Amino acid sequence: MKRSVQIAEQAGYCFGVRRALDMVKEHLTGHDKRVYSLGPIIHNPQVVEEFRKRGLTPVESLASVSEGVLVIRSHGVEKELLEEAHRKGLEVVDATCPFVKNAQRLARQLSEDGYQVLIVGEEAHPEVKGILSYCGENTLVVSSVEHLEGKAISPKAGILAQTTQSQERFIKIVHAVLLVAYECRVFNTICNATLARQTAAVELAGAVDVMFVIGGRNSANTARLAELCRAGGTTTYHIETADEIMPEMVSGKQRIGITAGASTPSTHIEAVQKRLEQIDG
Ligand code: SF4
Repeated sequence: MKRSVQIAEQAGYCFGVRRALDMVKEHLTGHDKRVYSLGPIIHNPQVVEEFRKRGLTPVESLASVSEGVLVIRSHGVEKELLEEAHRKGLEVVDATCPFVKNAQRLARQLSEDGYQVLIVGEEAHPEVKGILSYCGENTLVVSSVEHLEGKAISPKAGILAQTTQSQERFIKIVHAVLLVAYECRVFNTICNATLARQTAAVELAGAVDVMFVIGGRNSANTARLAELCRAGGTTTYHIETADEIMPEMVSGKQRIGITAGASTPSTHIEAVQKRLEQIDG
């Protein structure tokens, strides 16, 4: 029987990543200033390398930049960092995704209105660090219901999410907070692109024998896609490039599914599809 290789209906670059890369491209052509990004422009090492060759230099901290253009990536940054960049006289290209900006705005509003902000997300993720900088001191970052145990929850709680969180986790945490807070304001800031990719990935994973999830190993949304595909019991491989695919991964498998994180270019998806179609069953 001929093997089928199917790509999830929604996969690869999201609106925010595409927008950020377009903004960078615009500043790399026809300008003589040096262009820097705070951290890798997206969580995809191959794309970061491609942009490095075109003139975009990723830096670890603002201390390394004294002139030129500073690109803020789609995750956004801490507000103090943005202020410091302006103080240094850098030309700031703020490519923070509008959905992340919205989460930052809501976090600030909730704090100003006297709510204890709870961010459902990963504390170490740059997007969460950025959102956190707009919140009051009693803010909590929670990644699971268990994480709430022993934490002091104010009677007025405001909940929002890192844009790439899973809906299921968000709902569980909201439910747990509702049981202890007197008043609760909930903003579901999980972005549509994330939801659409997750739904399409889970659907496809349920219909195939093996799933390949393409994207940077440092990409939170790609890791989440792989986690969701695995949760349904489907054998799932998280890969960055087609070169990682070994024949034994698909040995005896007739139906193969592919999805990709929001930082994965279509060229990577096509290369994986081609490689899978070429391997003998
Ligand atoms: S995943 Fe959503 S929030 Fe994040 S950059 Fe893409 S569109 Fe924006």
